Parts: sequence; structure tokens; C-alpha cells
Amino acid sequence: MKVLVLGGGGREHAIAWKLSQSPKVSRVYVAPGNGGTALGPKLENVSIPTLPELRQWAQAEKIVLTVVGPEAPLAAGVVDEFRANGLRIFGPTKAAAQLESSKVFAKAFMQRHGIPTADYDSFTDPAAAHAFVDRLGAPCVIKADGLAAGKGVVVALTLQQAHAGIDSMLLDNRYGVTHNAGGARVLIEQFLEGEEASFIVLCDGKDVLALATSQDHKRLKDGDEGPNTGGMGAYSPAPVVTADVHARAMREIILPTIRGMEKDGIPYSGFLYAGLMIDAKGHPKTLEFNCRMGDPEAQPILMRLKSDLFDLLLAALDGKLDQMQLQWDRRTALGVVMAAQGYPDSPHQGAAITGLPAEADDAMVFHAGTALQDGVLRVAGGRALCVTALADSARQAQQRAYDMVRGIHFDGAQYRRDIGFRVVRN
Ligand code: ATP
Repeated sequence: MKVLVLGGGGREHAIAWKLSQSPKVSRVYVAPGNGGTALGPKLENVSIPTLPELRQWAQAEKIVLTVVGPEAPLAAGVVDEFRANGLRIFGPTKAAAQLESSKVFAKAFMQRHGIPTADYDSFTDPAAAHAFVDRLGAPCVIKADGLAAGKGVVVALTLQQAHAGIDSMLLDNRYGVTHNAGGARVLIEQFLEGEEASFIVLCDGKDVLALATSQDHKRLKDGDEGPNTGGMGAYSPAPVVTADVHARAMREIILPTIRGMEKDGIPYSGFLYAGLMIDAKGHPKTLEFNCRMGDPEAQPILMRLKSDLFDLLLAALDGKLDQMQLQWDRRTALGVVMAAQGYPDSPHQGAAITGLPAEADDAMVFHAGTALQDGVLRVAGGRALCVTALADSARQAQQRAYDMVRGIHFDGAQYRRDIGFRVVRN
């Protein structure tokens, strides 16, 4: 059977790779894909620019399952478009994807359904926002409503930073936010302390299966310093998510969200990602929802998944997740992102990539911003590769991943040297 994956990042390479392992899947098309999905067995890239054309192509090719990787096509309504034409597609509808595409929607939803999150208020008027911040004090967090590719958040340690953040979002739109109806709007949140973790589940509208836990490293530099990025590395499992934290996250966050969406008439199906902040007492609060798997969390998580992803996603589309179970490799998977020179501000394109290791059960290089040009693999984006290894301990997985990283070369490659430092014990 033929399946289609939408997107071209490392997460999509991992989803396509995992789907291709199902004996029921004959071909995995990836639109638009990358250099890695151009090369893998059973994988093939397709270049079709618009959603209606892609939908027509999927109908003509008799695609039995489409999986949406990134947020933009979800917010654009790809699930609604495919479903309306009788195609099976895994992901939330445009209305349900507002949990990610509108922070104002997500916060109001959490408030309405008693889901733990930071206190907040929202503003369109700069003067009112400035006055609120003066009353709240620093630290606080300023967030643009709408999709901003991880760049619409200012964690303000001083009042000056908070005021500058408000101006840049409400007056200048310096972050290039895609605004929701009503124009520019900011949210101002209480600052939460603790440790972050990614909690991702599969939902079929009413039932939920939690994926393995994970943590990522968002900052560019070692020691979690430097600018925020899409993510410089990740690992699974995340020991900070103890059995107790896991139970709380399910009971207090995930299940009330799924029930709340059902109650509000917009049932949620797809991957649901809750960004958790876990305080010193082990109480999780929701930082944000994403309507997809995380990137780079998907890469280590899917390396540990032993179950057939194709079967799981079809069961979810049939509303039968309650009959499924997930099987995980007990080992730790850890992925190190190698990014282009100049990332995240202005990544240089075109460097030739050499030294990629052979694919193995415990070692995978997932591609993101790469392209195959005349038989040469080149950097074609910000984050180029996620070099992922599976081993008995976090330390061994880290060593194995970095052994591979050291063998890979492209001019100007940037990567962190400390991915997994929280979980690697000497
Ligand atoms: P991404 O695109 O990376 O998912 P985003 O733009 O949706 O990010 P958030 O996840 O809401 O934004 O915030 C980004 C980061 O800012 C969080 O990972 C966290 O480190 C920090 N942050 C957000 N809200 C808070 C808060 N209330 N208290 C402390 N830190 C916060």
C-alpha cells in the first residue's frame, strides 16, 4: 500500500523511515521531502506545490494514508481538504489545530477546562500591554499569537526586555508572525520555573496512547546558551518524567484536553504534543500545545518504537486506539542536530556533505535541510541532519552519536557538544 508524508524535515524523514518498515507499506512518498527521503529504500520525493493539486495526486495514486508532519499545512486545513475528498489523513482539522496555531485559543481553552498552565492576559493595545507588564513585573513571558516558527516568544528577565518584546510584536512585527484574524495580539504570561519535557500522544478523537517521553535542547550553544532554535538535539526517554509526573500529565493535561475538545465540538485526532514545565515538586504545567510530533524529538522517539506505525495510525483513523498497545525499545535514543553555518539567522546553503555512516538498527542519520543535487548531497536548509543512536545507556548513546557526528563533514557545520547532559551520568 502507498502512503504519503507531508513535510521535508528530520521529523518527516523519521516518520517516513518508520512507515517504510511496515511490511504492508510498498511505497512512502514524501512531499516535498529532502536528500534523505530521496535516497531511502521504499522512499520517494514528490514535488507538488499546492494542497488541491497534492490532494488530486493522492486520489489518482490511491494513497491509503497521509501523515502530516509540520504545523503549517494543518493550520491551512489540509486535513479538512483531504477528508472532504474521501482520503484518509492523520492529523487534526484546521479548527482543532488552533490548539497550536492560536495561543489565545489554547490559553482560553485551558482556562475553560481547568488544565494547569501559566496565568496570562492577552492584548492588542500596546499601552494596555505595557501597563500590565509594569504591574506584573519581571521575569515574565511575552508571546505573539499566531505561528512564528518558535521565534514568537520573549522570556523577559527584565522589564526593559518585556517592553521591547511588546513593541517588537505589536508595533514592528519583527518576528514575521502569521497573524490570526484580528491582527497582531500578544499574550503576557507568568514565568514558570522548572524543567521542560515533551509529552507527545497519539489521539483518535476519544482515546489516547502516550508515546515515549523525550526532552530537547532548544538553544544553539552548549550549556543551553545562545539564541532559541527549532531544536539542536533530543533524547528519549526523559527520566524527569517519572511515573508520577507521567500519570499527572495524562490525568491533568492530556485527558482533559481530549475530553474538552470533544465537548467543544472539535474532536482532536492526530499527534498532540504538550510542552511541559515540571516544577520541583513534580507538578507539570502546560507551556504550549503543538499539533504534531516535535522535531527533533520524533527522531529518537521513532527509533525506539517497535510497533508498526502504519497499523497504529490506521487504528487511530478507525477510532480503535483503545485496542492497540505500543512497544518500545528499552534502550535510550539520542540525536544530535548538525546545522548549517549561520543558523538560525542566515544559514549558508550549498555545502557538500560527506562521511555519512551506513544505516544500522542502532544508528540513523535523519536528514532535514539537505538536497540531492546531481548526485551530491548538499546543505539546503538551517538544520541539516539529526544524527541519532540507540544504546543501553544515555552515555553510550551520546558517545555513539558523537562518533558518527565527528565522521560527517560539511563546511561551517555547527552542533552542540553536550546533547543529553541532563541524563548522562559519569
Ligand atoms: P516552539 O515553536 O519551539 O514550539 P513556541 O513559539 O510555540 O515554541 P513556547 O513553546 O510557548 O513557544 O515557548 C518557547 C519557550 O519559551 C519554551 O520552550 C520555554 O523555554 C519558554 N517559555 C514559554 N512560556 C514560558 C513560561 N510561562 N515560563 C517560563 N518559560 C517559558
